Amino acid sequence: MAENENPAEDKAIPPQDLVPWSEFLEDYPLNSVQNVSEYYEKTHSQYGDPFRRLTPTLRLHCSKCKGVRNFSGRWTHHDTFSNGDVVHDFVKYTCKDCEDASKTFCVISQAIGDNGNGCALKIGEFPELHLELPRSVEKLLGDDYKLFVKGLTCEKRGLGIGAFTYYRRVVEAQKNHLIAEILRVAEKLGGPADIRDKLKAAQKEKQFSRAVDAVKGVIPESLLVDSHNPLKLLHNALSICVHAEPDEQCLRIAHSIRLVLVDLSERLKLALGEQDELRTAVSDLLNFTAEAKKKAKD
Ligand SMILES: [Zn+2]
Repeated sequence: MAENENPAEDKAIPPQDLVPWSEFLEDYPLNSVQNVSEYYEKTHSQYGDPFRRLTPTLRLHCSKCKGVRNFSGRWTHHDTFSNGDVVHDFVKYTCKDCEDASKTFCVISQAIGDNGNGCALKIGEFPELHLELPRSVEKLLGDDYKLFVKGLTCEKRGLGIGAFTYYRRVVEAQKNHLIAEILRVAEKLGGPADIRDKLKAAQKEKQFSRAVDAVKGVIPESLLVDSHNPLKLLHNALSICVHAEPDEQCLRIAHSIRLVLVDLSERLKLALGEQDELRTAVSDLLNFTAEAKKKAKD
């Protein structure tokens, strides 16, 4: 084989189908097949193999440092290659801060074309994908938090239908509670009574779709997710037919449901917390003014 022969047949991969190799390793669940960019580089070496599989610095959760840190990696076997063979290999990453905690990925991968791209399948990672959930999610979901975590476990393992089904159960069970929390925010914010009346009416609706219709236009702005009604987003996501959609599509939708639920829980916490803080601040100021007046009289 000629030294600079391309790693594999030169297939053109549309840019929108590519994700950075680092993002694939950091975030993608198991069993994901994905076209990746920045997977390999030409070494310009006169000796040995002319291409090298890359190990970009990753941002991963470190169990020793208790936070997200930079990790550097190395392939277990030779990282250089001269053709586009499919490679089964481990890539081990170590925390740059403590130089102790590590994470190992097991991937099947192949270089494609001559632009540094590749195709990869993640078949294992240890420790498993760390997804930090804010405390507000547990507080919001109550007893259903355990089912939510089971959905998250499925999501991390690339089990789309499983993740979707768990999340759907949680959202359906929590529908009225979510509306009740939105109502609490609306009550704290004050405003027209008909907004609160509509939210109260929505709580009585048995069907999710009718409840979503009932709250149309009355969700406080601070709770909108990227300018959208979070309940409508959740309802739309739950409307897919799980029996007809492929597992990958269920996984993508499950991922979106989780992001919206987590975002909503944080927004609710902030909206309710900020109002409490504001109330305390107003109360402090009123007390301070009253005391100052009293001192002035004395
Ligand atoms: Zn560390």
